[in-house]
Amino acid sequence: MKDKRIPFNWPHMTGKELYYIAESHFNGRLAGDGPFTKRCHEWLETQVECNKALLTHSCTAALEMAALLLDISPGDEVIMPSYTFVSTANAFVLRGGVPVFVDIREDTLNIDERLIEAAITSRTRAIAVVHYAGVACDMDAIMEIARRHKIRVVEDAAQGVMATYKGRPLGSIGDLGAYSFHETKNVISGEGGALLVNNADFVQRAEIIREKGTDRSSFFRGQVDKYTWQEVGSSFLPGEIIAAFLWAQLEDAKAITTRRLDSWNWYHSALAPLEAVGALRRPIVPHDCEHNAHMYYVLLAAKIDRQAVLDELRTHDVDAVFHYIPLHSSPAGKRYGRVHGNLNQTDELSARLIRLPLWAGLPQEQQERVVSLLSGAIERRTNSI
Ligand SMILES: *Cc1c(COP(=O)(O)O)cnc(C)c1O
Repeated sequence: MKDKRIPFNWPHMTGKELYYIAESHFNGRLAGDGPFTKRCHEWLETQVECNKALLTHSCTAALEMAALLLDISPGDEVIMPSYTFVSTANAFVLRGGVPVFVDIREDTLNIDERLIEAAITSRTRAIAVVHYAGVACDMDAIMEIARRHKIRVVEDAAQGVMATYKGRPLGSIGDLGAYSFHETKNVISGEGGALLVNNADFVQRAEIIREKGTDRSSFFRGQVDKYTWQEVGSSFLPGEIIAAFLWAQLEDAKAITTRRLDSWNWYHSALAPLEAVGALRRPIVPHDCEHNAHMYYVLLAAKIDRQAVLDELRTHDVDAVFHYIPLHSSPAGKRYGRVHGNLNQTDELSARLIRLPLWAGLPQEQQERVVSLLSGAIERRTNSI
């Protein structure tokens, strides 16, 4: 990159995307579930070890499929963090479900598993967990609670591709998992996603719901002699051009993750001195989690004016950004959701968080500039207090 602006994200291309797109063009296979979709499914099923992987046109779509599969009905409650992207909640609200927001952990910013059980009522149908920044929630504890109360677990693993919890891929642990291949994620297809079906009971219906509520997939396998409308569904599958692009990315997923981890680790060492003087806190990755460097964030000391720091970075052409406005404080979150207990960590931590530019192949000189500008900005804020 010639210009000196350091963007927050820079979509990584492997170089094979157009080649595979050309292949599907020449094959004349453009609708969904063609050869590239099949390759992506097989890759995901091997990598994630799920019963069934199904490409969708987004992670949002995969979460909407999850809500349909769980038969979420008006008044059913789904426990989730408030510190998440809108799709985690929206998918269930579309079915009349009620998001019940609980607080997050101070270390990982993931749902605090110790608060879940007290939020369970007779209407609770599921727990929707979010693996923030590709760092896993405490899935053993969460699965144990779900088993005891006979409720389902959906993993919003939008940020979790290639990350693991106790050696198990994120998205492979709950009944259902959802990945995102949006341009801002690690492995991309512009828009894109996948539903991971771990609980075998959901495999057949997942195929039906994804194909407009029909048994078209069984028909093409020769298992039925005509396909018909079986239940409520929609069109959740991407076309082959998207799958062709994604295939190039999946082939390189390991290398992409390694390069992102290099940049993540560089930030982590470079920012240790600022943590040592109490200016900020770096991300904490529990020892049983292997993350995928989806994000590098810092939590500024509470007394530092975050907006002033962001503005100063922006003035110097560094695109650092904050993240979620907690859902419980948003207009729709207030209308459709309910809060359990207090959300003090959610409110406090979300207000202190800054995400730094990070992508596969981010040059080290640019990282040096980010860290030096961030140090300067923090120092000036600290002195002016
Ligand atoms: C990106 C993201 C989504 C949405 O993914 P899309 O593929 O854009 O629909 C949902 N949840 C979380 C936690 C995300 O980070």
